[in-house]
Amino acid sequence: MSSKLTVNIKGTILLKQGRDHAVKRFHPWVFSGAVQQATEGLQDGDWVEVKDQRKATLGFGHYQKGTITVRLIVFGETTPTENIFGEKIKKALAVRIEAGILSSHTNACRLVHGEGDGLPGLIIDLYHDVAIIQAHSTGMHRDRVRIAESVKTVFSDSNFPLTAVYYKSLSEKTQSEYLLGMTAVPHVVLENNNKFYVDWEEGQKTGFFLDQRENRQLLGEMAKGKSVLNTFCYTGGFSVYALQNEATLVHSVDASERAIALTRKNLELNGYDATTHACVAEDTFDFLKDKKDVYDLIILDPPAFAKHKDSRHQAVKGYQRLNAEAMKMVKPGGIIFTFSCSQVVDRQLFYDTVVSAGIQAGRQIKVLYHLSQPADHPVSLYHPEGEYLKGLVLYVE
Ligand code: SAH
Repeated sequence: MSSKLTVNIKGTILLKQGRDHAVKRFHPWVFSGAVQQATEGLQDGDWVEVKDQRKATLGFGHYQKGTITVRLIVFGETTPTENIFGEKIKKALAVRIEAGILSSHTNACRLVHGEGDGLPGLIIDLYHDVAIIQAHSTGMHRDRVRIAESVKTVFSDSNFPLTAVYYKSLSEKTQSEYLLGMTAVPHVVLENNNKFYVDWEEGQKTGFFLDQRENRQLLGEMAKGKSVLNTFCYTGGFSVYALQNEATLVHSVDASERAIALTRKNLELNGYDATTHACVAEDTFDFLKDKKDVYDLIILDPPAFAKHKDSRHQAVKGYQRLNAEAMKMVKPGGIIFTFSCSQVVDRQLFYDTVVSAGIQAGRQIKVLYHLSQPADHPVSLYHPEGEYLKGLVLYVE
């Protein structure tokens, strides 16, 4: 696709006096409070142009009614061509190659991470030869076919295979489907030479949590000779790495039966016995009762306890309780890998919450590592909201 045609701009968003600084600093969101005037009749997902009081064009993006009125995809005054998605996806693939993520032992990664790749509202995960598109805005949903075509073109010009593009809808109102007539069946991917069966059609999110790849690797390095408890295990990522690195025992816990079935499948795929290494469908808080001094290493990777600021307080209480329980249970000299993927709970707040859990547990604890999200989940310097995954590795005396 080398289209010179520009995208169809449906209207203009005029910013209030003094409310253009963020956009001029490449922050990709225009909040409703910054809007002085919008072209009448705009529909959610329309492409719009954003202007300042002097009528200078600051950029272009998707319009949507709500707190974030525009998600900017392009900064500057040049109207983007229809190939804008292709250009950005090509860059995103180049960054993953540059960062050394895709290799003979890892063939799954996040290809596009929203704002971090200059494509607000768009997620694309790559599972070997299948790309999964997920739209978190109406604009990206409406542009999904053009995005799929761009992925196809970028891959046909690369050394990487692509057999299918699957659109995984976030809403019940729209359909998940294979696009461009390319289909595939859920299959096994390689992550650091570990095998994982990924079911993008039925699984949570796009089927696998790619953001824990490096943290799983570190866990593996620390798991040798240890008895390990992997809570909120989903597809058993941490469990497989622990076993590959000679953990003596690994127990995996998730509230979802489906997740536990996937964990069992993944243990077996890698040659481990899911009976010896029990996989339990149970609530983590219930499971942790009566498990004092059983485990040398505990992983806590819960789902986002807070999705909005309104629920932040509740979330903090949840993290505190969970961490305090694990701190009380782990053996003396034990290790805890603890995470939060709630974007509204920032790194400092998470740290403070873990401190208060430690005080509640009444044990001496050292911080060994501060963990984060990997390079295929990049964060724009001007959009710190893109950082969501935080973790700590704790040594509990
Ligand atoms: N650690 C995983 C990802 C965790 S996703 C990985 O590396 O892939 C969060 C998981 O927590 C989901 O699978 C969800 O089913 C599970 N979950 C949510 N609430 C739970 C609870 N109270 N107890 C146990 N599991 C829970």
